[in-house]
Amino acid sequence: MSTSMQAWRAQLLRFDGAGRPLYDSDGLLITAQGADGVRRVVDAGAHDAVAARHPGLAVEHLPGRLIAPGFVDMHVHYPQLDVIGSPADGLLPWLENYTFPAESRFADPAHAAEVARFFFDELARHGVTTALTFATSHPASAEAFFAEARRRGLRMIGGKVLQDRHSPDGVRDATEQSLIDTEALIARWHGQGRLGYAITPRFAPSCSDAQMLGAAELARRHPTTWIQSHVAENRDEVRWVRELYPEARSYLDVYRRFGLLRPRAVYAHCIYLDEADRRLMHETGTAAAVSPTSNLFLGSGFFDYAAAQRHDMLHGLASDVGGGTSFSPFHTMLAAYYVGREGQSKTGLSLAPSNLWWQHTGGAARALGLAGTMGTLQDGTEADFVILNPQATPLLARKTAQAGNLEELLFALIVLGDDRLVERTVTA
Ligand SMILES: [Zn+2]
Repeated sequence: MSTSMQAWRAQLLRFDGAGRPLYDSDGLLITAQGADGVRRVVDAGAHDAVAARHPGLAVEHLPGRLIAPGFVDMHVHYPQLDVIGSPADGLLPWLENYTFPAESRFADPAHAAEVARFFFDELARHGVTTALTFATSHPASAEAFFAEARRRGLRMIGGKVLQDRHSPDGVRDATEQSLIDTEALIARWHGQGRLGYAITPRFAPSCSDAQMLGAAELARRHPTTWIQSHVAENRDEVRWVRELYPEARSYLDVYRRFGLLRPRAVYAHCIYLDEADRRLMHETGTAAAVSPTSNLFLGSGFFDYAAAQRHDMLHGLASDVGGGTSFSPFHTMLAAYYVGREGQSKTGLSLAPSNLWWQHTGGAARALGLAGTMGTLQDGTEADFVILNPQATPLLARKTAQAGNLEELLFALIVLGDDRLVERTVTA
């Protein structure tokens, strides 16, 4: 064990299980590789105290740098890499004109493999170490995603999209075959290394009743898998769902009726929910993937943080690329701050910088059902982390030098930061 130990000395940001930040201006992080080949934190905290417990250990000293948990992206579409920054008149035209044509190319395994490689490179450049990811409806797209994640030893979750109706040729799948393909992918990839499978009905309008029921049946048979979908992103979409399911109480209620709400079920957006919906989210342990850059870009609306907090609803941050405009967790956290502040359509509030950071690390891990596994740099958690350089640009150096406390430091990084801050991404 001791021969595999590695140690880093720098400023150190961790979180406790309740989301409180733990900061050491002179910290030491010690990791070791376990029998399963995964590197975990074995000790961390103030340098002098931790170093005294491990005499003689070689330490990599990183003066001026900040070590923090790797970022967790709760909702992203890897095949929409080339859709990012496409202009459109809202969600539904954007899907039709850009997204579905781009996704239809993923029937080709070589194309899927090339995009998967670029995608994981891009995540690493931005300090993202775990993502809950949509593939496309083509099994080859999920194969490419998992094969590349496995090659890199990453903790990644993904799944083949289910969409057997209201979808154009080239991305529409066939009900029975789509469920057979999903179960084969679960058998092949779920629990392999650090990989997890997410059963992925695209959204209620794109799935027949038979496909939804089949998805829920698979989710019951494989209770440690994830479920990922979209809900209540945009008013036109909510209206459409009401026409399709007049018997349902709400859009979210459609998923409840099919049996698709449970722990490890993650729904992107969750903007147009009411109080009963939020109670249902809480009671079923279902999580929201808040996607602020996407919601601002497409003009969809504003996630209601005050209401989510009131109902103790699991939530965390997501890029939602390609509706989202950036892979950068810093851009996402800043957009979440804007969304929180917005006080015309809902209660506005100022999210603390450490809370924004928590939502994109340990809080997201908790919402994914992975508390204690990663996202906090607590002892025993997987050693996925970033080494940030707060002096990465002249303005960052000037501003962070003036930070009088942790919240001021984190907020300067959130407002001014991007991939230039991320000096290194280390995965377990
Ligand atoms: Zn999405």
